[in-house]
Formats: sequence, C-alpha cells, structure tokens
Amino acid sequence: MAIATVNPATGETLKTFDALNPGEVEDRLVRAEQAYQEHRTTTFAYRRELLLAAADLLDADRETIARTMTTEMGKPLAQARAEAKKCAKTMRWYAHHAEKLLADEYPDPADVTDSGAARVVVRYRPIGTVLAVMPWNFPLWQVVRFAAPALMAGNTGLLKHASNVPQTALYIEELFRRAGYPEGCFQTLLIGSGAVEDILRDPRVAAATLTGSEPAGRSVASIAGDEVKKTVLELGGSDPYVVLPSADLEKAAATAVTARVQNNGQSCIAAKRFIVHADVYDAFAARFTERMAALSVGDPMDENTDVGPLASEQGRSDLEELVDDAVHQGAAALCGGRRPPDRHAGWFYEPTVLSGITPTMRIHHEEAFGPVATLYRVADIDEAVSVANDSPFGLSSNAWTRDPDEQDRLSRDLQAGGVYFNGMTASHPGFPFGGAKRSGYGRELSGHGIREFCNMTTVWYG
Ligand code: NAP
Repeated sequence: MAIATVNPATGETLKTFDALNPGEVEDRLVRAEQAYQEHRTTTFAYRRELLLAAADLLDADRETIARTMTTEMGKPLAQARAEAKKCAKTMRWYAHHAEKLLADEYPDPADVTDSGAARVVVRYRPIGTVLAVMPWNFPLWQVVRFAAPALMAGNTGLLKHASNVPQTALYIEELFRRAGYPEGCFQTLLIGSGAVEDILRDPRVAAATLTGSEPAGRSVASIAGDEVKKTVLELGGSDPYVVLPSADLEKAAATAVTARVQNNGQSCIAAKRFIVHADVYDAFAARFTERMAALSVGDPMDENTDVGPLASEQGRSDLEELVDDAVHQGAAALCGGRRPPDRHAGWFYEPTVLSGITPTMRIHHEEAFGPVATLYRVADIDEAVSVANDSPFGLSSNAWTRDPDEQDRLSRDLQAGGVYFNGMTASHPGFPFGGAKRSGYGRELSGHGIREFCNMTTVWYG
C-alpha cells in the first residue's frame, strides 16, 4: 500500500511519501535507544511538564490537525475536532495521574516476614522502546492513548501508522518535538507493513502494541511471540446493542444511531448488532430506521454532514460485499443498502439497516466497518445473551434496561471487555479499555494501560 494522502471524499491523491530506507530506520532505532537510556531515568515532574506542553500545543493546533485528519480519512470535521480535544484531555490525565499509578507498592508485611526480608518493594520501571502499529480510523486518538502513558512511564515510542494517514503521523512526531521531548523519544516511521518484522525483531525494541485488524494482530503477535516480547492487541469488534422492554425506546433509538454511524461507522467499539426484545422490536426498528434514513451523507468538511465517505475504496467494497451477501440470502434492507445515487466521486455508502439476519450470512460473524446495522428479534434475555455472544469478537457491549436484575445478569454473561448500560460505549482515560476473544488482549487507558508496558520489579532487601 502506497504511503499517501488520498482524499476519500473525492478519490484524489493529494500527497505521496517515500518509505524510509533501511539505513534511515537504523538511524531512528539508534536514536530511540539513546533517548530511552536518558528518558528512563527522568523524574515524573519532568515528564509531566513535557506532556502538559504537548497537550497545550495540541489544543492550539486543534483546527489544523482536525482538517488534516478529515482530509486523510474522511471523518466529519466536528468529530475530528472532538478527537483532538479528547487527546489533549488524555495527555493531561496521564500527566497528572502517572506518578500515583506507578507508585511503589508494599506487599503484606506477613509475607515480607515469611520471605525472610527486612523490606520488599514492588517498583514499576519502564520496559524500553515500544513499537506502536496503529490504524487510520482515529488517527490521533489511537496513538495518543498509547503514547501518553508510555512516555509518562519512561518508555520511548516508535510509530508505524497506517499508510493512508502519513500527514497525521508526521504531525504527532512534530508535536512531541515542539513540546520539548528530546530527540528520539517519539518517532514516526514512514514504512509499509512489510518492514515491521525486522523492527520488531530488533533487540532495541522491547514490546509492541497494535490496534487494527485480526490478520495484522496475528502477524505482529506471532513475530513478537517468537522473540518473547510483550504485546497488547486492540483488534476488531462487532459490539451487541441489546434493547429490553424496560428501555427508554426514544433514547435507545437516538443513541443507537450515533453508536452505529460515529466516525462514518468505522469504529471498533461501534454498536453493530442491534438485538431487540420482541415486545419492543417493531417500535424500536421503526424509530431507528427512520433516524438512520434521515442522516445527511456528504462532504465531511461540511458542518451539516452526519456521515462522510468510507476511508478507502477497498473498505467500501468490503462493506458492499457483506451487505450484498446478506440481501442475497434473504435479509431485508429497511433503508440504504447502496451507494448514494447522487455521489459519483468518493467512497460513500448510505446508512443501512438490515433485518432478517441468519447465522449463514457473513455479516452475522464478520465486522461491518461502515454505517451498516443489523437487527435481531429475540424472545427473551436468554436469547439476547446467546445472540450477543454468538460472535468471534468481544470488544464492548451495550444494553438498555432499567431492571437491576437484568443488569446484573448481563454484566455477568456478556462476553466483552465492557458492558455499557443505557448509553453507548465510549472510552475514558480513567477506565480500562480492551477486548476479549478475537478482539484482542491487554488493556489500554487507566492504571492498567500504563502498567502494560512496565517492568514490574520485586526489590527484596535482606
Ligand atoms: P489494518 O489493516 O490491520 O491496519 C492497522 C495497522 O496495521 C496499519 O498501520 C497497517 O499498516 C498495519 N498492518 C497491516 N497488516 C500488517 C501486518 N501483516 N504486519 C504489520 N503491520 C500490519 O486495520 P485497519 O483497516 O487500518 O483498521 C481497522 C481495524 O482496526 C478494524 O478491524 C477495527 O475494528 C480495528 N480497530 C480496533 C480498535 C480497538 O481498540 N480494538 C480501535 C480501532 C480500530 P498499513 O496501513 O501500511 O497496511
């Protein structure tokens, strides 16, 4: 895949970039190692000042970087601004919380005595240079949620970003440099995915984090496994959105639309499968479909646009194949199911609601990465849980019920890294984020995220 900015709203190639050659990659590995040896010994106060400076710069740059993201991957401009704002907030969150999250721990005195020690301390030390392989869908957020904790922990970062967001990738490197980080602390590598293996095997790289598709995750994790290096994987999702009779239907339908089409439907934690109790199915389906059909599809730079183009031509044809397969097998398109007839350039697709889904349809098991929702009618909570869990993925989940017993049951039984009641899944720096099953392993954000890339060290004093 060429490293290039191609505007998905027009299909026009705006800028292409040469990949780094092996010598240039080597220079960056040298710099990363040198920077790590320095950065790992710095104080939290010093790291805090740098990250707060980066957050201030990002706030000041919000409009420019938002426009760059929208140009490169097509998200509506207001959502790009919101992404930049959330990144600055997360930087500040880690700047202020990291020291406490990585504070020394003291085991139970009875165990210390039992071990024959005078004193035992558990210290969270940095692990080294971490390679981050990142996707284009939240081109700033995915990187910041890795970089902010990593830099606060004393690690250094190398970013291999998706090939269609090179300008955003270069902006991030520049942002950290302008904030005052020493050379080598955070570097962007403009490389294709074929160059990842050698870098991951290099002894100067300690670990890797990948956000992306399952094939990419499998490849990086198997190479890292071969090298016995730690990985965190944030992969795909097909989150269930369960609606039970006690739900506020109006609110559930309005939130369902946002949960499905945010980021033009290309979010790992988008609700994708809408599983509705028979008692409220018809009322929910009517409200939901009406709202999906009313969305405005168009230029993502236009403030009135709800849904922009898909990020790539390939992404749109993958989505079309899933919808066509379902329709050929008997699913009904309650709205959408096609390209907008009035848009001849760019990779647009109409917001779509499909009903009558059966397990033989590909969309039942695969991730629909675009504005396409599937509806399921279920008889009771048992069937809702069974349909929700009938997926290889387990990223997050949503459920609408005001019944505390049903909430207990669902938070026990839904196979996912999150269960969100009466609202939609949204990450927050203070809560762990990550998946189960084929959605990956490990956690980002919160104390759990920052400790993933630490060397938890037992220090025993005789
Ligand atoms: P992708 O094709 O897997 O690409 C993600 C990154 O991996 C890109 O930088 C890509 O580089 C690189 N890559 C691809 N194949 C690779 C390989 N064999 N070895 C090493 N690197 C490789 O995914 P995408 O289409 O950009 O992103 C969409 C997917 O990401 C969806 O499945 C979505 O659900 C998932 N996602 C998950 C989360 C989460 O937190 N769980 C968040 C966002 C997205 P190139 O661009 O150069 O190919």
